[in-house]
Amino acid sequence: MNLHEYQGKEILSSFGVRIQRGIVAQNAHEAVAAAKQLTQETGTSWYVIKAQVHAGGRGKGGGVKLAKNLKEVEQIAGQIIGMNLVTPQTSKEGKRVHQVLIAEDVYYPGASETSEFYMSVLLNRGTGRNMIMYSTEGGMDIETVAEETPHLIFTEEIDPSVGLMPFQARRIAFNLGLSGTAFKEMTKFVSSLYTAYVKSDSSLFEINPVLKTSDDKIMAVDAKVTIDDNALYRHKDYVNLRDLREENPIEVEAKEVGLNYVDLDGNVGCMVNGAGLAMATMDLIKQAGGEPANFLDVGGTADAARVEAAFKIILKDPAVKAILINIFGGIVRCDRVAQGVIDAYKNMGTINVPIIVRLQGTNADIAKELIDSSGLDVQSAVEFQEAADKVQAVLA
Ligand code: GDP
Ligand code: MN
Repeated sequence: MNLHEYQGKEILSSFGVRIQRGIVAQNAHEAVAAAKQLTQETGTSWYVIKAQVHAGGRGKGGGVKLAKNLKEVEQIAGQIIGMNLVTPQTSKEGKRVHQVLIAEDVYYPGASETSEFYMSVLLNRGTGRNMIMYSTEGGMDIETVAEETPHLIFTEEIDPSVGLMPFQARRIAFNLGLSGTAFKEMTKFVSSLYTAYVKSDSSLFEINPVLKTSDDKIMAVDAKVTIDDNALYRHKDYVNLRDLREENPIEVEAKEVGLNYVDLDGNVGCMVNGAGLAMATMDLIKQAGGEPANFLDVGGTADAARVEAAFKIILKDPAVKAILINIFGGIVRCDRVAQGVIDAYKNMGTINVPIIVRLQGTNADIAKELIDSSGLDVQSAVEFQEAADKVQAVLA
């Protein structure tokens, strides 16, 4: 589950990580009230108006702007709320902005220069350990840094049995070129950030930039936080942080009916039982010259109701030109799935795209018989390759 910047910052702050403070606003009027309150609480006289959408690169797209007085807060907030923000990470249509974060200006002048760093905490799947990835090149697109100056990206892997060690936090502060107060601040920042990551069951924290202020404070100016969905049962207070407006509407609907669905860009809809078989089926489709329109694991009980729900979800995607049903009848018998497909098809009335069904496993022969004699526009296949060829034929 992805969070908005303001929600991510609230979680960080609850674990003692210093953040650029801000108040979320739904309209220009609330934005002005938020700015006044911020000045009372922090003394700031300038403000940053930040679009709250699930996409990075907002600054580049005009979704992060500085306001030097309340009049500008009102103007800029009014302009950003309701806009379709296009950034390097959104589609070309952009994302509708429903709310903004009014944040204190933390780039104020002072005794030393400000500097921006990059820091993320994530799981290294290769080693099975959490790691902190960081760079002196903050505020920039980290992919560009990785491509052009990879030696400026450092990593620190954490041994899960002992957690983050103090020497590791010090090494990070050292590699970032800090000394004195800023060095101490950074070690505190890193250790509370790591604690927050672990305790919140997150799968990603990305803080870009981490700012060293002109008076040597270290703070999170931005926050991209992804909470592991599988751990949400342990965090009842995080569940309502989900903003469905930011998620793919077909995926949201699929989740409601208990289907494991991921929307993709291709033209062949897939209905498969088991995640592994689903992945193999997507490979097969690509090999046959098609592109999968989705990943869909219907799970163990592929009965008529489930098959029908899956059809409905797949057909919501207008790009779908064919549907490949690939079911292995291990626990579920193939003839029951076949009957499910036939019943679902009849219930749906018309399905305007060709359907290829491959059923393999228990009672596969009876299943094929059922499909072939159903009189519906459904083609059956026994072998994997045969199914692929049939998909290719209907796409040609
Ligand atoms: P992103 O573009 O979506 O990654 O949004 P960020 O939250 O990272 O903000 C983009 C940029 O806005 C930062 O890299 C900063 O340079 C700038 N910015 C953020 N906060 C402030 C602030 O308080 N004052 C000033 N002057 N600039 C800021
Ligand atoms: Mn950022």
